Amino acid sequence: MKKICVLGVTGSIGQQTVDVVRHHRDEFEIVAMSAGKNIDLLEKIMTVIHAKHICVQKQEDMEYLQRKYKDVHFYCGQDGLIQIATLPQIDIVLNAIVGFAGLVPTMKAIQAHKDIALANKETLVVAGHLIIPLVKENNVQLLPVDSEHSAIFQSLNGEYHGEIRKIILTASGGSFRDKSRSELEHVSVEDALKHPNWSMGAKITIDSATLFNKGLEVMEAKWLFDVDYDDIEVLIHPESIIHSMVEYQDTAIIAQLGTPDMRLPIQYALTYPHRLPLLGGKHLSLSDIGTLHFEKPDFHRFHALALAYEAGRKGGSMPCVLNGANEQANALFLSKKIAFLDIEKYVEETMRAHHWVDHPTLEQLIEIDQWARNFVRERVGEI
Ligand code: NAD
Ligand code: MG
Repeated sequence: MKKICVLGVTGSIGQQTVDVVRHHRDEFEIVAMSAGKNIDLLEKIMTVIHAKHICVQKQEDMEYLQRKYKDVHFYCGQDGLIQIATLPQIDIVLNAIVGFAGLVPTMKAIQAHKDIALANKETLVVAGHLIIPLVKENNVQLLPVDSEHSAIFQSLNGEYHGEIRKIILTASGGSFRDKSRSELEHVSVEDALKHPNWSMGAKITIDSATLFNKGLEVMEAKWLFDVDYDDIEVLIHPESIIHSMVEYQDTAIIAQLGTPDMRLPIQYALTYPHRLPLLGGKHLSLSDIGTLHFEKPDFHRFHALALAYEAGRKGGSMPCVLNGANEQANALFLSKKIAFLDIEKYVEETMRAHHWVDHPTLEQLIEIDQWARNFVRERVGEI
């Protein structure tokens, strides 16, 4: 029986993790979980998942819950996340928190020798240079939950890294893949939130529309699979059936295909190296689909992708700046304070204004992240 801590259980990935675990109760048990501010949803999840250790964001929510559920231990804030992620009985931490907030709990869990199933790609984007050595030093497994990276991981099974020629990261193109640059000027939050293939949290749905999500995934792939940026190619594939591919030196290309369903990569991260039936999973029928489409991304139209390659190649503190500025600008777009194309504009301005640091420490990353957010807020007139 694998004992799991789910960080971000009330989110899109968190709830799909609950679904996977409910279908395989003799394999997995969620013994600890965290929620943010959605306490109603947390209480619903508590009726099906009887975790004994639960962390919430606010102190008052913790006190309320502790009075109501006497046989559960409640925790709060970042310290609480660290406490539940490092409990001695935990085998694996599935990190489904969104954004920079996922970084420190991931690091502490690795230091406590926990395997990590990572949905929180921002962790690797900002601190891959700290995380990868820490994973090796503590001899833990770092298993991707992001669908593209799970596909690459599955396509790589048993192969030596030196034999890879390149990684082909597929991208749906997001909500606006057919819009021109001038049409993008006036798109609304509501339209951006309508992703054609996947139902996900708000932040990542906006990131999919700007293509910052794909940019973050390029950096995530660099760290997970130890490849150069020149050997990571983004390919627009609107149907999201091929979840990504690996090309080997001998020209063979291995891919993983399937209907878009995040429960598969979530479950595979928990069952690896074995597989279990995916209850309720839809089987792919290529004859029903008939045709798949592919095209090269236009780096001018999707400027965010160009910025992400630039930040990744520069390395050091630059990915942290891109990420922090993007998180802030994404949130400002969601609250209708800035326009869609302003997101990449403010990210670029923040990158240009940054004093670059090589190999930043965790403390420096926390400062730089805050600086980048403040820079965007000042530019928008928020502070
Ligand atoms: P979401 O917004 O639906 O859920 C986020 C979760 O994190 C919630 O439980 C929320 O309460 C919690 N949270 C948010 N801020 C927090 C904070 N400061 N402290 C503690 N908890 C906090 O997001 P999601 O779509 O489930 O995405 C989660 C992560 O997984 C992201 O990094 C995203 O990029 C990645 N991911 C998601 C999908 C998807 O299909 N949703 C696919 C691939 C990767
Ligand atoms: Mg993805």
